[in-house]
Amino acid sequence: METCSHKHSQLQQLTYKNTAFYAVVFTVAFGIVEAIFGLWSGSLALLSDAGHMGADALALLLAAFASWIGRRPTTSKHTYGFGRTEAIASWLSSMLLLVVVIGISIEAIERFRIPHTVASKPVIIVAIIGLVINTITAWILNKGEKNLNTRAALFHVFSDLLGSIAVLISGTIIYFTNWTLIDPILSIFICVLIIIGTINLLRESLRILMEGTPTNIDCNKVELTIKSVSGIQTIHDLHIWTLTSGMPLLTAHVVIEDICLLQKIIDDLRTVIQKEFGITHTTIQVETMNQTSPCIDCNNL
Ligand SMILES: [Zn+2]
Ligand SMILES: [Zn+2]
Ligand SMILES: [Zn+2]
Repeated sequence: METCSHKHSQLQQLTYKNTAFYAVVFTVAFGIVEAIFGLWSGSLALLSDAGHMGADALALLLAAFASWIGRRPTTSKHTYGFGRTEAIASWLSSMLLLVVVIGISIEAIERFRIPHTVASKPVIIVAIIGLVINTITAWILNKGEKNLNTRAALFHVFSDLLGSIAVLISGTIIYFTNWTLIDPILSIFICVLIIIGTINLLRESLRILMEGTPTNIDCNKVELTIKSVSGIQTIHDLHIWTLTSGMPLLTAHVVIEDICLLQKIIDDLRTVIQKEFGITHTTIQVETMNQTSPCIDCNNL
C-alpha cells in the first residue's frame, strides 16, 4: 500500500512539473512575440502585456524552484525544513510584478504628454494570438496541483486574458478612429489588472514571512477554546503562525491546577486544537501556580 501511494504521488509530481514547464514555455514565447511586436508597432499596451507575461513566467519558474527546494527534508541546520521558500518566491514574484507596473506607468504618463503613433493591425493580430495562448495556459494550470504559487499563477493568467482583451480593444479603436490616447489609457488598465492580481499574493506571502496569524484562525477563539479545557487556569504567550501555506503551528504557555492531570490536559489540548482549528503541530509549556521562578514571558507578551 505504501509503495503504491508513493508511486502515485511521484507520478502526480511529474505531471505537475510537465504542465508548469509548458506554462512557462508558452508564457515566455508569447511574451517575447509581444515585446517584439510592441516595439515594432509602438503599442505600449502590447509592451505592458509583454512585461506582464515576462514577470509571470519568472513567477512560475520561481514557484517551481521553490517547490523543488521546499520538498527537501529537514536538517539539523534547518529544523523547520525548507517550506518557507514558497512564501519567499511568492513575495519576490509580487515585487517583480510591481516593478513592471511602475515601468509601464512611467511610460504611459510620458505618452499622455506626447502621443505616439501606433500600427494597429499587428496589435490586433498579436492580441488574438494572446487570447488563444492565455486560454490554453489557464486550462493547463487549472488541471495541475493547487498551492499558494500555482493558484496565484492561475489567477494571473486569467488577468492576462483580460489584458489581451484590452490590447485587442486598443488596437481596434486605433484602427478605426486613430485615437492613440487609448493606448496609454488601456496600459494603465493593464497595470490595474496586474496590481489586483498581485496584491493578495503580496499580502499572503508577507503574512507568512511576518509570522502572522493564519487568516482562517481567530486567535481570541483559540485562547477561549484552550481556557475551556478542564484543568487549565490561565493561558499566556500564545503564538499561532504559518510555516508554509497549509501548515499552521501553535505554541502556548498554560497554567494548570493539578500537575497529576498533566498528561490528560496535554492530550485534551492537542485534540481540541487539532479538531477545532486544524493545527496539528502544537507546543505547550505547562506551568503551575506555585512554581519557584515566575515565567518571564508572562510579563513580556
Ligand atoms: Zn499575469
Ligand atoms: Zn513537535
Ligand atoms: Zn509562561
